[in-house]
Amino acid sequence: MNTEELRTPLGEKWLTTMDNDLLVVGAGIMGVASAYHLKKNNPNKDVLLIDRFPSPAQGNTGRSNAMFRNTFSSRDNQILSDASIDFYLHLQNELEIDIGLQPIGYLWLMSDGQLSASEPFLKQMERNRIEIRRLPREEVKRLLPGLEMSFESNDEAMLMDLPRIDGGVFGPKCGRLDPDKLVRFYAQEFSQMGGRVAFNTNAEKLLVGPSKRLGLDGEPFVWQDSRIEGVQVSGSMTGELRAETIVLACGAWGNELLEPIGIDGHVKAKKRQLFTVPAKGSDRLEALVRTEGFNPLGLLPLVILPKARVHFKPVSTENEFWIACEDEVNRPYIDIPAHDLEGYKAEMDFYDTSVRPVLSAYFPDFRNARVKAMWAGLYSYNTLDFLPFAFRENNLIVVGGDSGSGIMKGDSLGRIVDALYRGEDDALLYGDRPVRTSKIGFEKRDVEREEWVI
Ligand SMILES: Cc1cc2nc3c(=O)[nH]c(=O)nc-3n(C[C@H](O)[C@H](O)[C@H](O)COP(=O)(O)OP(=O)(O)OC[C@H]3O[C@@H](n4cnc5c(N)ncnc54)[C@H](O)[C@@H]3O)c2cc1C
Repeated sequence: MNTEELRTPLGEKWLTTMDNDLLVVGAGIMGVASAYHLKKNNPNKDVLLIDRFPSPAQGNTGRSNAMFRNTFSSRDNQILSDASIDFYLHLQNELEIDIGLQPIGYLWLMSDGQLSASEPFLKQMERNRIEIRRLPREEVKRLLPGLEMSFESNDEAMLMDLPRIDGGVFGPKCGRLDPDKLVRFYAQEFSQMGGRVAFNTNAEKLLVGPSKRLGLDGEPFVWQDSRIEGVQVSGSMTGELRAETIVLACGAWGNELLEPIGIDGHVKAKKRQLFTVPAKGSDRLEALVRTEGFNPLGLLPLVILPKARVHFKPVSTENEFWIACEDEVNRPYIDIPAHDLEGYKAEMDFYDTSVRPVLSAYFPDFRNARVKAMWAGLYSYNTLDFLPFAFRENNLIVVGGDSGSGIMKGDSLGRIVDALYRGEDDALLYGDRPVRTSKIGFEKRDVEREEWVI
């Protein structure tokens, strides 16, 4: 590492020029997992991780529902998530590192029509050894006595055209974790291995230069090979951070750095909201949190209702539920989001008029429940196929586009970034599972679209 500190012409701020082997921009799950695997597999390289926030996971990672599942129809989604989940289970169970992991499972409640439409995907999962259980109507009723299964005499439910429940699909290798704890694990290990971090440091722009500098004004010209020389930063440091290789893990903000230099960032952000409702004070809701029969923890799984993708999970430590709904209609895409996520507010009206009517029709115990807290964050969609990407252009590596499932695939994507850096054709995911790195990029993209969308 080579660091020069100079006075700016105005003499007001320190201008820092720093050379690194590797610079990772973004300290959400994608950035910290990438930094960790890069440092681990390239211990002699200087790796610097920067973020504009004061600490890691202050972007969308910290606002996440942080659920994980391996139950996808796409073989690529299955592998990316299943291998990451195995690594997270290894951390929690074998290394005894608390990442707040609770394998509570996912429960999809469905009508007959939805169940038969799902059947080809479920068979595909079973062929790929993804464990699922089909629950007949009677078993769902027995396990969830407070659930309304049909609505013949409920005008409001009829108006909303709510499907009746004819059965369920249960995914046991699914659950929740604590994203702050997971990120802390990667960040601490990264630092212990000698990785460096700089927070409150904003990458203003990517610096493009010629591969061979000729000392002419205006370089690089169209006839020169070019590369990303580094980033211009402001905040805790002002100046240029130069690096041999730059990794962008900027999540919803990826376009901001890439579009000005003519690289497609391939992300479109969308606001997503979470609402918490206490179980305390309602015997029936408290009993719902502690529903037996689904998992060894004696907890309700994440429940996905058969309408409008309304879903909710128990948070037993807080004795509450987190409720969400991923709406599409009239929910705009955002190309370059504001830096401050506080500007994206959760909408009480959305909960009252869109979410609660569906939730309390199926689970009437929620009818009088009050929202205790709510917040919003952004999903980063890759609208091509809604699977994440990681690609390399010369000395620039970009990871993102997880489309709302970056926590559950974070470890695998960190390993893919490292394989791209080392020029490997295959990344070895946790459990020695090879994945062709080129299939996750764009030039030779070869991923199976996800068909089983919740
Ligand atoms: C409400 C909600 C619920 C969700 N639920 C789930 C779920 O259940 N399961 C799941 O797997 N995923 C879920 N997600 C998605 C998950 O949170 C994301 O996939 C994941 O956090 C993406 O990680 P990231 O590192 O790419 O982005 P982020 O966590 O947003 O990190 C990007 C970082 O880059 C930094 N950055 C960006 N640009 C710059 C710059 N120019 N200079 C310096 N720093 C910069 C930002 O400050 C930020 O810290 C949810 C998301 C939301 C909003």
